[in-house]
Formats: sequence, C-alpha cells, structure tokens
Amino acid sequence: MNITFLGAAGTVTGSRHLLENGRNRLLVDCGLFQGLKQLRLRNWADFPFPPAKIGSVLVTHAHLDHSGYLPKLVKEGFGGPIIATSATLDLLRILLPDSAKLMEQETEFAKRRGFSKHKNPKPLYTARDVEKCFTHFKAAGWEQALRAPGGFDISLRHAGHILGAASACITAGGTSIVFSGDLGRHGDPLLADPQPPAAADYVVIESTYGNREHSPEDPLVTLERHINAVSARGGKIVIPSFAVGRMQNLLWYIHELLRQKRIPQLPVFVDSPMATSATQLYALHAADHCLDAGGCEEAFSFAHYVNDRDESEKLQARKEPCIILSASGMATGGRVLHHIRSVAGDSRSLILFAGFQAAGTRGADLVAGNRRLKMHGEYVDILCEVAQLENASAHADATGLIAWLGKIPKRPKKVFVVHGEPTAADALRRRISEELGFDAMVPEQGQRVEL
Ligand SMILES: [Zn+2]
Repeated sequence: MNITFLGAAGTVTGSRHLLENGRNRLLVDCGLFQGLKQLRLRNWADFPFPPAKIGSVLVTHAHLDHSGYLPKLVKEGFGGPIIATSATLDLLRILLPDSAKLMEQETEFAKRRGFSKHKNPKPLYTARDVEKCFTHFKAAGWEQALRAPGGFDISLRHAGHILGAASACITAGGTSIVFSGDLGRHGDPLLADPQPPAAADYVVIESTYGNREHSPEDPLVTLERHINAVSARGGKIVIPSFAVGRMQNLLWYIHELLRQKRIPQLPVFVDSPMATSATQLYALHAADHCLDAGGCEEAFSFAHYVNDRDESEKLQARKEPCIILSASGMATGGRVLHHIRSVAGDSRSLILFAGFQAAGTRGADLVAGNRRLKMHGEYVDILCEVAQLENASAHADATGLIAWLGKIPKRPKKVFVVHGEPTAADALRRRISEELGFDAMVPEQGQRVEL
C-alpha cells in the first residue's frame, strides 16, 4: 500500500489523502482548500488523475475542508460509494447544498458587480452537481468492519470533534493505517471524548493546534465576561461560527449562562438556515452526542431562529443589545458578513470569533489586529471590539493530540503530521518524536510514501 498527500499537507484545509493498494484506490476525505488565494486556486486545478479511477471515498466528518470537493469529484467522473457515518451524511445533505448556493451567489455577485477577473465566471459546482453526489452516499456504523471496493477494510471510532466525526482505521494487503480525522477536546459538553486509536502500522494525525494549548479557563467564564461587558455598554455581540458543531456548543454555553442567571436575559438569534437544520439533526442522532431528548430541546429551543432574508435585514438594523450567531465561522462568506458590517462602526459592539481561523481568512486578519476588511468588493473599517474565544475550540490542543496518540496500543512505524499550518505541524512532529519516541514526518503537498 502507499499514501499520497493531495491536500492538508503543510496547511489546514483541503484534506485529501489517497491510499493505493495495487491498482485499487481509496480517497480519505475530499475537502475544499480555503483561506489564502493561492490555496483556493488549488480547487480549480485538475485532479491529479481521472477521479473515475478512485474506487471509493471515506469522509471522516462533514466540515467542508474535509468534504466540500465531493460534488466536483463526482462531476469529474467519480462513480463509487461515498462512505461516512449516518450523522455525517445527514450533515452533508445540509452543508453541500449550502456550499453550492454560496458559490453560485458569489459568481452571480461577481458577474453583476464586474469584479471578477473572468469574463464569464462559473461556480466550482452547482446545486445539481450536489444532488448527483448524494446518490453515492453509503452509511457506515461505529466500530463495524466495512469492506470498501478494492479490499480496503474500514473501522470507525468517535473523534469527538463534531456530530458524526470519526477517526478511521483502514487495512489493506496486510498493512494498517489510522487517520485521526479532526480530533475534539476531552470534556466537551455535547460530545463524548475522542476514542483512543486502534493498533496500526501508520498514523495520520491532524495538527490544527499542534503548537498551542487552550486556555485553562472555563469557556463559560470567558463568554460570561464578554457578554456582560458588551451588554453593560449597550452593544451587540456578533459571533461568527461554523454552522455545524461550534454553533450548537455556543448555544449550550449561552443557555447555561442564562439558566444560571450569570448574564442578563439578552435575546439570542441564530441567523443561519444551515445551523437551524443542523441543530435539528441532534435530535435524530441521539447516540452521537451526550444530551438526552429533553436536554436537546432545552439547550437549543431558547434561541430565536432567523430564516428569511427580511428578518435577517431587520436584525442588522436592530439597535438594542443582543447576541447574533451566524455563519461562516471564519467570515469567509454567508450572512455573518452583513452582521459584521452592521456593527463595524459601533465601538460598543463586539465581534467574537469562536473557532480556529485559517490563514488568509477575514477572521484570521481581524484576530491578528487588521482593522480594515474587504467585504463584497468594498473596504470596511472595523471600529468595534474584536475577540476570540479560543478555549471553546472543537479541536484538541497540542497536549490533547499527544495524549490521544500516546494511547495507541503498539508503536507505529511512522506518524504523518497533516492538517496544520507549517509551524504547528512541525511543532507537533517534534513533540511526537521527543515525548513518544515515534518516527514522525510532515509530508509535503503531493508527496507519495510507500507503506
Ligand atoms: Zn473539522
């Protein structure tokens, strides 16, 4: 068997790892490149070989940097099954149409305003391509051996990152390899802790926070401090958040603060149709999280769910203090941009980022202190407060990653460190070799390694 790193090598986004066993091919994750323009352009490059030659795709979880290229892969000729847990497939049925819609809208907008460099800009894929992609979906259970085309045996364990997120152990031709997928933190209020890795010859591990530790402060305390400060000065709080995962955790935190009367009774709005649908899925996939039916209802139903554009516009014009949760989480697009614009000039208000911000995104720019943002082709000055709630991340920190890998029952022959900015990936590589004594490397984009 061999592995080729077609994405998330030296960067966080675009997860695509190709396993080849003789002439059989399995692609693990099929993500979009996001963030810096030079990365986004990779979405438009030809796939390195005809996708029809791939037997199947395994998707570890629904986030677009692991799944958002699927419709394009199918459009380019991939014809096999797309394997994932049933919660992941349900989330993809929400996320992928939204991804296509955003691409189509941005293309239209660019055409109308004429700020595209292309004469006739086209989206990467359309809603129709997404529909076609759905016909390839195949659900996999937890810890049940499943044989994918080409003789790849797959077994999935909980990764504790978002609803349905899995780590995978894949065996073919007598060689085994574990993919961490994105790993969550221990003690998440909604998800079970990540399960330890299965014994395997090789491991591919993520390194989003490979050089960082989360603040030991309880996220409830951090959020409480921000909400009370902004509400005392009469501002609005806009929280850009991933519609899936972060949004539901934030709702749970805010609900807890309200229940314990630690913050004033501010109205809370969820302005993301996708987040609304994703939240409903928690009730359907009870085995994939820690809340019971009553807990789900209580934690999520207190917020007001905004659905149509009119209501969203009224919310932008609203002057009274309130909390607005909206997507996308790195402010790369979506309704949150309008909310950011609406509070940008108000020094009483706060934009509170709640997750990892990939280099090149508006979120990363703002968190780094840039106060002039380009949105919808125009520059906007940001005069309000900007903060980041890092301890509420859906990712394990460096010590969490080392602890997970350290639980592997036998020493792996090699560990591949992916899904991190170069400094984060390299810092984790060093810790793996120094603290665990495992041979570790950071593969380069396009690198192929014999297993
Ligand atoms: Zn993720």
